[in-house]
Amino acid sequence: MPTSIPSEEELLKLAQSRTGKTIEQLKKEIDEYAQGFARFLRKERRLITYLYLKKVLGIQPKLPTVPPPHMITLDELKRTQVKSRLSTQGYIVNIFTTKTRKGSEAIGFDIIDVKSAMRGKIYFSDAIENWKQAKVRVGDFVRLKNISVSDWKDRRTIRISSDTIIEKVNSPPYELEECATKIADLVEGVYSLISVVVLSYDERTYIGCPYCAKGINAQPGQVVTCPKCNEDVLVKELKWINILASDNDDDIKMEITPSVLAGNEQLEDYLNDGGILNVFGRYRDGVFRVENIIPSISRHYEEPTVKIQERFASEEEESKVVNLLVERIPLIVEAWGERTEEQIIEVLKRHMGVSEESAKKAIKACLALGKIVWEEREVDGIKEIVYKVGG
Ligand SMILES: [Zn+2]
Repeated sequence: MPTSIPSEEELLKLAQSRTGKTIEQLKKEIDEYAQGFARFLRKERRLITYLYLKKVLGIQPKLPTVPPPHMITLDELKRTQVKSRLSTQGYIVNIFTTKTRKGSEAIGFDIIDVKSAMRGKIYFSDAIENWKQAKVRVGDFVRLKNISVSDWKDRRTIRISSDTIIEKVNSPPYELEECATKIADLVEGVYSLISVVVLSYDERTYIGCPYCAKGINAQPGQVVTCPKCNEDVLVKELKWINILASDNDDDIKMEITPSVLAGNEQLEDYLNDGGILNVFGRYRDGVFRVENIIPSISRHYEEPTVKIQERFASEEEESKVVNLLVERIPLIVEAWGERTEEQIIEVLKRHMGVSEESAKKAIKACLALGKIVWEEREVDGIKEIVYKVGG
């Protein structure tokens, strides 16, 4: 395997542009620096120049990043002895922000393929910027090229760097639902996806600590010392949701904790929606702890109850349908990250049997309500409008 270190000439040019010194001057300095090494090593100019830039001038030459040629599964990623320059693919089922122990921003995500799920972490501002540029959303199928893995507390984690190539795939090799585990096959403590229908749910509200969810006898808005966190916290009204769901063969108890619900209130809308939900989380002590919910678009719209006739008896009936579509369109857009008008209309026509006219009316209404927003994009020199979820 040829070295990834740039040539001596390239390194010198880089040093020249950063320091303003002449090539001759730099060569002289490097010659002197080389004296500090064993004679045998002094003639390895590329290596010595690289070290001089790094150690003396404080310049980190960018190594060429040729992404590894083939994708490996998450299972293989969990077992591989090689820790870097790896590539994998799967559906993003969860994205969250966290803080490092030093207090700087970090992003976490969960990715799943047909066999297993893994958590990823993104630290450092240039890596976070790389991730943000890729505009990955929950439900996207992505290829991650040139990642590394790290082991922490027996849990292997994916690391994204500024050199990772993040590609969203428009026609994934398999559907999200194919990544689901049957309830009967769930393994204690293992993160999994289940595809279920919600049979019933109830919620409990109480006043408590927004960090650990412990109930506290106080008024919302009061600052109280949390007995569990041992810190002054602003107590809030918290909501805990208990759910009973079925995957056709078995029922399961699920729960959504206040910390998962905070900032993700749409989870409750999904529960109300009545369709098939892809729920990501893990099974512990007889309960499936929900981390995120991704509505199942295709199966959802194949439900006979939402099939709609193309011809309407009255205007009133049509406006009912448009209102229903207004609720669905953001879910379609959300599931794919972004969609063109033609793509949205296609889904609505195919799965709900509505007319193009009603679909267009509903898209307009969504835009007016701010439920979706449009963005102009240029692909191969062709400008196109894509819709994304608003807000
Ligand atoms: Zn607390």
